Amino acid sequence: MKNTPDLTTEISAVRAACDNARASNHRIALVPTMGALHQGHLSLVDEATKGGDFAVVTVFVNPTQFGPNEDYRRYPQTLENDMEKLQGRNVSMVFAPSAKAMYLPGAATTVGVADITDGLCGASRPGHFDGVTTVVAKLFNIVGPCRAIFGRKDYQQLRVIKRMVQDLNMPIEIVGMPIFREPDGLAMSSRNAYLDKTERVRALSLVAGLKAAHQLYQNGERQVGRLKNTVLESVTSSADTIDYVTAADANTLETLEDRTTVQDKLLIAIAAHIGSTRLIDNTVLGKDVLK
Ligand code: AMP
Repeated sequence: MKNTPDLTTEISAVRAACDNARASNHRIALVPTMGALHQGHLSLVDEATKGGDFAVVTVFVNPTQFGPNEDYRRYPQTLENDMEKLQGRNVSMVFAPSAKAMYLPGAATTVGVADITDGLCGASRPGHFDGVTTVVAKLFNIVGPCRAIFGRKDYQQLRVIKRMVQDLNMPIEIVGMPIFREPDGLAMSSRNAYLDKTERVRALSLVAGLKAAHQLYQNGERQVGRLKNTVLESVTSSADTIDYVTAADANTLETLEDRTTVQDKLLIAIAAHIGSTRLIDNTVLGKDVLK
């Protein structure tokens, strides 16, 4: 356990450190991030370090998960700041490789998960999940964690990673952590930094819609369409464009017809643009508590 994490950009260095940790009987916990760390990321980090595991945080803005017209080039890169935020949190190592180190010329192998990647962000961001599963599989192979911690903010990503680990017999426990929110409810995101003042206010329509759906659900509403439409109305009132507002089975991510009745846990997931910023949020009715 350490107060100042070691920082490395080298695959060989992180491998050697993880080999050493395993040789001294430490379990390894991994938190993959794209940096610009906020409290949401830090809640994952705190989960990773609890129990004295050798915690590795990766900071890598992965080019292969961005579409050609997305924000890869302007994604915030704040490594120095990130290191400060990790100070005193018992993180053992920060791995911040370059894209060149991660993707050698001639690389021809990708990891793809079918079906569960078809809808939601898979539909609006073609190729995104292939980029995610490929880089996460690579990080798993480099670090060799027992546990990897992900946020439910990227709900589909969490389900996709769980599917990959199960299908490929990766001996890794995938832990999903609750969405960490600003005091006014906005889901924390590195992309919130793009929002100007008025956009920041408009962005609240996402969580407002989810709260309204919770209220309806608490009052006994179980029709999928009515629960979903209350979210859609709120987001439509403030967003510039909507990629989706979808009601889906929280386990399989299969889209549910409006006229059906909630059977088990219902996921309502949103992706919408406020100005030029694409924001996502979600909730699971019957599980999450949103006040
Ligand atoms: P990112 O840096 O956006 O790729 O996120 C890295 C990890 O942090 C992912 O597992 C995200 O789901 C998680 N994460 C991002 N924002 C939040 C949040 N507000 N609450 C909880 N987890 C989050």
